[in-house]
Parts: sequence; structure tokens; C-alpha cells
Amino acid sequence: MSKSIAGTLKPVAYSRSSTEFVNTYNSRKLSEKSGADWDDKENPTLGEVKREIKNHYLKAQDYTCAYCQQKIVVDHNGAWDTEHIAPRESYPGFMFTPENLCVSCKDCNGAKSNKPVLVNKKRRTFPKQSKDYTICHPHFDIYSNHIRVVGEAVLYLPRTKKGQTLIEMCGLLRFVYSFADYEIVDLNIGTKIIALGTAFQNAQSDLEKIAIAQILKTMLDEGLRAAALKQLEQM
Ligand SMILES: [Zn+2]
Repeated sequence: MSKSIAGTLKPVAYSRSSTEFVNTYNSRKLSEKSGADWDDKENPTLGEVKREIKNHYLKAQDYTCAYCQQKIVVDHNGAWDTEHIAPRESYPGFMFTPENLCVSCKDCNGAKSNKPVLVNKKRRTFPKQSKDYTICHPHFDIYSNHIRVVGEAVLYLPRTKKGQTLIEMCGLLRFVYSFADYEIVDLNIGTKIIALGTAFQNAQSDLEKIAIAQILKTMLDEGLRAAALKQLEQM
């Protein structure tokens, strides 16, 4: 058993019947495994294992997405995805490894998709250390060491390269950029710029200042574009 670090996630402990299923799966040759094994709807035992995984991580994470830290307190399956940190399509061998599993919201899971997260992409044995991953890892890293969440989970500021990579990989700036879809472009952008200006003044490092400046630039570019399009519609 690996030592648990304060602030990181408690891995799922399988029930006896799930352990049997997982051991049988793990004993197969790698060439006989594929990411699609997860979706076998004909297999009720697999369904039970998946339920066990999801229920464990929903509670262990307190209904909080491992990547964006948004809290979504609903049990129905629609709001949550069981997430393979090293994607199952690329690493079916790690499909049921407890430390490769967590829950994430649909948006983060969709954005992250099959993007690579391992430093050594050809790993055959499960990598168990923080330094083996390019993103801050729900089991091996403490989120707040890598990303600072400002305000009501709107602004994600990188503290490390792993934090920056996660912000980009999961599209975490979607919250700050979401204004582009809004009807009233001008009012909304004004409020956000003031909030970002305050965040800029209170930045805790040069890295944070640069990140906020980049966000402001994108917001202004996109916001002005949206405003111009709206004006053109009215002509
Ligand atoms: Zn999320």
C-alpha cells in the first residue's frame, strides 16, 4: 500500500467480487485489452465494478471535480464521469488501477479526452509518482500547490508548469471566457475586466500576473469581436 499524502485522494478499495473481476482482467495480455472494454454493456459484473468506483470517488472527492474543483451535488450519473487519469484508450492496462481513477465533470472530461499525461508515454507499469505526470495528479499531487482558484471558481492561476498544463488540458478558462456566449456583451465584459484587474493587483507572483494579462488580452479580443458582430447584426 502506498503512503497517502495529506490532501490527496483516497484510492478505491474494491469489494471481493470486484477484486476477482479486476484480477481476471489484469491477468489478460495487454494486447488483448482495449479502452472499449470499459463500455461492455453486456457485462453486469463490470457494471457493478463501475458503480463501485464512481460511488467511492464521488464521496472521497466530496462531489468536487478533480480538475476544475467545481462542486456538483447530484447523484444521478448524468453530471459525472468516471475519469481515467492516464486515458484508457492509450493505457487499457491501467483501466482499474485505483490510483488511475477519479471523477470529473463532463466538461473537464470532454476537454481532457485522450490527451497524453505521462512524461514517459510508453510506460507499461503504472507510474506512481508525481514526477511521472505532466499535469497535477488527483492522487499524487496537492491541487492548491499547482493551481490557485480565485473567486467563485472562475479564475484558475498556475503556480507550476503542471498546473498550467492542467489548466490548458481541461480548458479551465472556459469559465472566464464564457461571456462570449452572453446576450449582453458590454456589461458582462466590464464586470469581468474589473474582477480581473483586482486579481492582477493581488497577484501572488509574476507567473500569475502574466497569466492574468494573457486572459485579459484574450477576453478583450474575443469580447470586442463578439460586440462587433452584434453591432453588425443590428445594421
Ligand atoms: Zn471539472
